[in-house]
Amino acid sequence: MPDLARTLLPRWAQQDWMARGSCHGRTSVFFPPYAERPQARARREAQARLVCQSCPVLETCRDYAREHREYGFWGGESEDDRALAGYAVPWPIGVRRRPSVAAAS
Ligand code: SF4
Repeated sequence: MPDLARTLLPRWAQQDWMARGSCHGRTSVFFPPYAERPQARARREAQARLVCQSCPVLETCRDYAREHREYGFWGGESEDDRALAGYAVPWPIGVRRRPSVAAAS
């Protein structure tokens, strides 16, 4: 992977508040599988939104995801929600799943 791409990609880092999240152990609800269809995405994100509604760290999680331009569902928001709020992801949704990108890293 070129150094520039490595620099621009958001880097996930474990945060203390993550252990208190209601989504702990439910990764498949918060991150899409490869080639997820729009209807499946809508269903998955609706499930994630329900989990986030009662999460004790929702605001911290939302701020973190916005600041780090994360992919996936964080803090009650999808990538589209964050983009509408002014925090768009730096690469098109799904680009990190492409084999050519993964092989280069
Ligand atoms: S707000 Fe949602 S994504 Fe963030 S830690 Fe809580 S349940 Fe997980």
